[in-house]
Amino acid sequence: MKTDLSAALFAQAKAVIPGGVDSPVRACKAVGCDPLFLKKAKGAVVVDVDGNEFVDFVCSWGPMILGHAHPAVVEAIRETALDGTSFGAPTPLEVELARLVCDSVPSLEKVRFVNSGTEATMSAIRLARGYTGRNVVVKFDGCYHGHADSFLVKAGSGVITLGIPGSPGVPEDIVKNTLSIPYNDEEVLETTLRDEALDIACVIVEPVAGNMGVIVPELSFLRKLRDLTRELSIVLIFDEVITGFRLALGGAQERFGILPDLTCLGKIIGGGLPVGAYGGKKEIMDMVAPDGPVYQAGTLSGNPLAMAAGLAMLNELRKPGFYEALEEKSRWFAAGLEQIAGNSSVPAVLNRIGSLMTCFFTEAPVTDYRSAMLADTDRYGRHYRRMLAGGIYLAPSQFEAAFISAAHDRSHLEKALDLTESSFKKMAKS
Ligand SMILES: *Cc1c(COP(=O)(O)O)cnc(C)c1O
Repeated sequence: MKTDLSAALFAQAKAVIPGGVDSPVRACKAVGCDPLFLKKAKGAVVVDVDGNEFVDFVCSWGPMILGHAHPAVVEAIRETALDGTSFGAPTPLEVELARLVCDSVPSLEKVRFVNSGTEATMSAIRLARGYTGRNVVVKFDGCYHGHADSFLVKAGSGVITLGIPGSPGVPEDIVKNTLSIPYNDEEVLETTLRDEALDIACVIVEPVAGNMGVIVPELSFLRKLRDLTRELSIVLIFDEVITGFRLALGGAQERFGILPDLTCLGKIIGGGLPVGAYGGKKEIMDMVAPDGPVYQAGTLSGNPLAMAAGLAMLNELRKPGFYEALEEKSRWFAAGLEQIAGNSSVPAVLNRIGSLMTCFFTEAPVTDYRSAMLADTDRYGRHYRRMLAGGIYLAPSQFEAAFISAAHDRSHLEKALDLTESSFKKMAKS
């Protein structure tokens, strides 16, 4: 595979951008190669600057559930841009999208748009703190909620992958208010919440973990979380930045039938443009400025371009049968992967829900951060490089999800299965 142009660009990028990338995992350090620079994409296929084509299982880390450059989304962006890209004033499109989002996500009565998932989560915990008058935030080991100070404690893939415990630059005074406890552990959950109840503003959770690889929680764990937080008047925040509009139109909360007090959204909601959102019960959302005292603002928030892209995206997702078709395709693909793993001596565990999945190179079930960390990351690196060379673009870390989009067809998935099979054969020999 020719990668001269990517290599040259990476050298130039490193001179002017830290590590040559604008988000750390993109540097591909965890899989022992240099990043490819992409120049275009269509449907399930991405193309790099050297002209190599790949079937894409990264999907921009989740947003591209329709595949790349979907005509309806592109057309909405083009049309809207002709009338101006940002006014810093209210626009009709944001009302339309807000109504659609509140209709789609079961627990949402009101929603505020921001520009990224990080902004959504940091605003949601500020709101929870303002609402309860308490300071402590409880999160779970290996869950990622963006890069705001309070969350950089045992914070999932980007941080795991680089082996940085938390981050310099985050004051201890801030993270002393963050408690991180094991995912899926009902006992520790109950003890922690009961012991610290009077100080805890909120519990924030990925209702399906996606940033230590995919981990589907026990339903009883989520139920216990809901019951305890309700009993103890703690705000429950679902970080549905990945799962929102992915596991169902109404996200994980619809799929599991468990409703949080606040929800954070991102990724899919912007149709590939930078959009995040947080929302929930009126009673809590009415605390946000200008109705209430909790300040949160944004110059580009709700800008027409981003809102138009989000609307076009959601209108496609609302078409009858969309999620059923995605589920069916994902189940078929996962069955193929499981068969390959089952026929091989290579230890591998497949975690999947809907169109989200991770194949961990490990023996035992992966249910939390500790068990995820047992995965063989060197083996993943070798697998990744073989898949890439064969034209399959996977996430450059063992601790990320593979995403299936509506644009993946049988031939894309069969190509991935064939290559996986030959990669597993090579692993079994070595
Ligand atoms: C990606 C992600 C975020 C952060 O969103 P950005 O748009 O990257 O700031 C927050 N929470 C979860 C669960 C995510 O996967």
